[in-house]
Amino acid sequence: MSTSTDSGSAADGAVLTFAGVTVGYGGVPAVRDLSVEVRPGEILALLGPNGAGKTTTLLAAVGALPVMSGSITALGAPIDHHVERNAKRGVTLVPDNRGLFHRLSVTDNLRLAKRKGGGSLDVVYESFPKLQSLRGRRCGNLSGGEQQMLALAKALLTKPSVLLIDELSLGLSPIAVQDLLPRLRNLADEQQMAVILVEQHIDLALGIADSAIVLHHGRVALRGSARELRERRDTVEDAYFGRLSTSDSAR
Ligand code: ATP
Repeated sequence: MSTSTDSGSAADGAVLTFAGVTVGYGGVPAVRDLSVEVRPGEILALLGPNGAGKTTTLLAAVGALPVMSGSITALGAPIDHHVERNAKRGVTLVPDNRGLFHRLSVTDNLRLAKRKGGGSLDVVYESFPKLQSLRGRRCGNLSGGEQQMLALAKALLTKPSVLLIDELSLGLSPIAVQDLLPRLRNLADEQQMAVILVEQHIDLALGIADSAIVLHHGRVALRGSARELRERRDTVEDAYFGRLSTSDSAR
């Protein structure tokens, strides 16, 4: 992906595609004319300040919000306003509240997530050995990092083709984030999952991502490969804070 504010073009192999998507609330757009695609094994970091439209983008991707214009396709079929059906097709969201049952044990949370034909608990415990030692612990008594591991493990049990993660590091210590992000990279590589990662820690996100988009006020302020954006860190910050003109971002 070249660094620009231009729309991405559809290309072969994309597992999730946004084509000119405008989406919002009560007829008011929160994200405008977004075009992006993610391929198997690719991690796309979705960056931007509060209110930029990151969560809105993820909600649209799972069909929780109907698009106002444009289209979203996953695995070659349209994403419609039907969350359950889209989830069955392998589009899985880890929400920022982690979606866990706090009164249930680790194992029971995982059992609930496992549906027929889904992944195995053993494989999940291999990826997150710590969860195995915490099997009987009530979820509400886990640390923030352990809860986030459990949220990721639950999502993996659905064998996602596309994993959408909202604020992986919310409430976590930097050490916990530094532990989790490389695991996510390995999982994307091993399972060829496409990942969209919403993350406030720009450098950590760019450190494991393949590509990145900076949203500002619902529009793409900057896009590029993670490597390019790491090398243009000042430009990323300018895009983040809305200080970038189109000519700057296309440089
Ligand atoms: P944050 O980092 O704070 O979570 P974000 O980038 O995820 O921000 P969104 O939550 O997508 O941003 O919000 C984008 C815009 O849509 C904001 O202006 C927000 O106020 C608005 N918005 C979000 N949810 C709703 C809602 N349920 N009803 C109306 N407006 C909403």
